[in-house]
Amino acid sequence: MDLLAGAPARLPLAHLPTPLWHSDALDAFVGTEVWVKRDDMTGGADAGNKLRKLEYLLAEAKLRGANVVLTCGGEQSNHARATAIAAREQGMRSVLFLRRSSKKPPPVVANVFLDRLVGAEINFISGEQYADRDALMAAVAESLEAGGDRPYIVPEGGSNGLGTLGYIECMAETRRQLDAGFANGPEPFDTIVSACGSGGTSAGLGLGAAAFNVAPRVDAMAVLSTREDFEARIAALQTDARKLLPGLEDSAEIVVHDAYKGPAYAVPSEEQLGFIIELARRTGLVLDPVYTGKAMFGLARMPDKPKRVLFIHTGGLPGLLAETRRFGNL
Ligand SMILES: *Cc1c(COP(=O)(O)O)cnc(C)c1O
Repeated sequence: MDLLAGAPARLPLAHLPTPLWHSDALDAFVGTEVWVKRDDMTGGADAGNKLRKLEYLLAEAKLRGANVVLTCGGEQSNHARATAIAAREQGMRSVLFLRRSSKKPPPVVANVFLDRLVGAEINFISGEQYADRDALMAAVAESLEAGGDRPYIVPEGGSNGLGTLGYIECMAETRRQLDAGFANGPEPFDTIVSACGSGGTSAGLGLGAAAFNVAPRVDAMAVLSTREDFEARIAALQTDARKLLPGLEDSAEIVVHDAYKGPAYAVPSEEQLGFIIELARRTGLVLDPVYTGKAMFGLARMPDKPKRVLFIHTGGLPGLLAETRRFGNL
């Protein structure tokens, strides 16, 4: 049965399938068998987990005849950068709303540099304004429309029911890889570990892992907020995704962890920084201090570690390059 046959339209933006990567040195460092789904390789400058969501979101934008895409995120948002680049590839402009606490002009580096390079319009907004981001984007979309544009709004992180389908598709892809013998398949994994920032990736992994028998569980490593908040958000996203893809089974068990998020969003602890450095030196795997480094740190620190793990490398290289000063003099 092809569950995805009736799915909404999808643009082929990502380079798929992404590899299932393994390293004995990583197993030894983390303390269990880890297979890394290299979604940091979904693309070039637009790489990362957001590209899988954008395959569905920008397909809808194009079907609606959009010429400008609006989205939002933190100052160094990987999602906003991927959206700006992919939108431009598809012949659309982008307007970004990026949260910035300081009123000083931001350094034009890493993700912000790439946003500017592809000509995105950037509006830096305060945390207070960001709390009302959906209303703000709706108001700007309305005025663009009044001026003759055809705007399309992508929510924070590309996380809505439609974007969630990207990670259901990722699990279908992983099942095909297991059936072909990759990752010592076809046995499912014990769990899937991924960073969780707006919830769409975890929501899709949960539904897809169950539908395609990839794992009975997803460990979502929150990089902000609380376990209760993400449990509710992920459940709501799954409800919305089910409306678009009838026939989905129950989700894999979603276990949200909020103990590994470090001091604050985008702020790693000294221990987490040391972990990222040591892991890179032992394995050659490069993780970022905002998402993937914290998620892998959480896996390594988890009591009762699962025996066979699929770790989703969600990308974030520009986020690392924006934060090099935190790493001191390497
Ligand atoms: C956005 C992002 C995440 C979190 O994914 P969500 O679907 O928003 O939970 C994880 N890793 C990286 C590198 C990201 O950019």
